[in-house]
Amino acid sequence: IWDQACSIVKTEIGPAAWGRWIEPLAFRGLAADTARFDAPSEFAADWVRRHYAEEIAGALNEAGARCAQIEVNVGVTDAGVGVGVSAGAAARTLPEPGEAVLRSAPLERRFTFDQFVVGRPNELAHAAARRVAEDDSVVYNPVFLHGGVGLGKTHLMHAISWRIAERTPARKVLYLSAEQFMYRFIQAIKKDNTMAFKEQFRSVDVLMVDDVQFIAGKNSTQIEFFHTFNALIDSGKQIVISGDRAPGDIEQLEERIRSRLQWGLVVDIHPTDYELRLGILQSKAEEALAREPSVRFDPKVLEFLAHRISSNVRVLEGALTRLFAFASLVGREITLDMAQECLADLLRASDRKVTIDEIMRKVADHYNLRLSDMTSARRARAVARPRQVAMYLAKTLTSKSLPEIGRKFGGRDHTTVMHAVKRVESLSDTDSQIAEDVELLRRMLEA
Ligand code: ADP
Ligand code: MG
Repeated sequence: IWDQACSIVKTEIGPAAWGRWIEPLAFRGLAADTARFDAPSEFAADWVRRHYAEEIAGALNEAGARCAQIEVNVGVTDAGVGVGVSAGAAARTLPEPGEAVLRSAPLERRFTFDQFVVGRPNELAHAAARRVAEDDSVVYNPVFLHGGVGLGKTHLMHAISWRIAERTPARKVLYLSAEQFMYRFIQAIKKDNTMAFKEQFRSVDVLMVDDVQFIAGKNSTQIEFFHTFNALIDSGKQIVISGDRAPGDIEQLEERIRSRLQWGLVVDIHPTDYELRLGILQSKAEEALAREPSVRFDPKVLEFLAHRISSNVRVLEGALTRLFAFASLVGREITLDMAQECLADLLRASDRKVTIDEIMRKVADHYNLRLSDMTSARRARAVARPRQVAMYLAKTLTSKSLPEIGRKFGGRDHTTVMHAVKRVESLSDTDSQIAEDVELLRRMLEA
């Protein structure tokens, strides 16, 4: 529990302060709502008491313990006051000295269901994760989440862990990356206690292994994984696995593991769409604004980012973080111009470089029109509608302003362009043919 709490404190106070004050503490247990620690010096003990008591207690509660206060004494710590006893001190915090200890990897405090924005591309994965966390009966087993990098797999797995710790703390959850799984297995082999290793794994209620593609091709680990996996499934324990691809597409994964993975519920997290990106940006911007209330912020920037940045959510987050840092450091308002300047590198990387000429050409082709129809004054529906679609695409796929777009389309007024954009938006909701055309053209242009 202290490991979990410790990583919470780390994100809260930052790695530097954490490394200096928190890491050197030795956790001595939790009794009667009081958590006890030993610090390497009186100075350190005093500092922690005065500066970090609240954070530590809060983190312990968050990790599922009950802690009302902390007590810090001066004593022997893992960091090693009192040469020679530090190894003994370290061993004391382990239940079975010398054995591989079954501990979850640290959980990211932000990765909760509350902070996960649901949209069409991830709704199934979210629902499956929720189900695992909220329902003790094992319904789908295993649950296999797959999707590209930065789409929320790890976030969902941590969210399951947090939610179970909160709702049914007696359920034992083990969350590991496949890499850690392998590492522990190798340690167990070295120490010649693979039996204990197996037993440890088999004592959990929910096992989550992240990024399983990592063990593909690592044969002995795969076999061990497979046995653990089977034993857990056979005894009705829940398993959640993530991978960057569908089980069938992970090369060098043993056939029997692959087919066993496919027995359960396989859910795909699709690349984010515009709506989801916007939703995520809104939620993160709200958080950022709560933290930095003095920053002034033009909400249009979010739409701009949702259009212009790729599907990887991590990159979106990074962009927003940078904007807020910049705004608060130099006291500038976050506007479209500022965003363009500040994120030039990111925007360039994801710049589709779609030009209006290209849009007009593709749209004309698609509707069997001449290129000149895009700029002509003809108002017949068969021409006017495609022209509106082209204007809409020009607005959404390029960073050109309404007047600039109007000029390109035969010197039209910016209100005409605005009207076209609105028209296509509302038609897309009611007319599936238009919606499909727009989607298809968008994809062709973005490719
Ligand atoms: P993966 O494990 O699939 O590579 P992560 O779970 O690490 O991706 O997600 C990358 C980042 O994007 C994390 O900071 C995560 O919080 C964020 N993120 C991804 N999807 C969402 C979402 N739907 N709502 C909020 N944040 C998200
Ligand atoms: Mg991940």
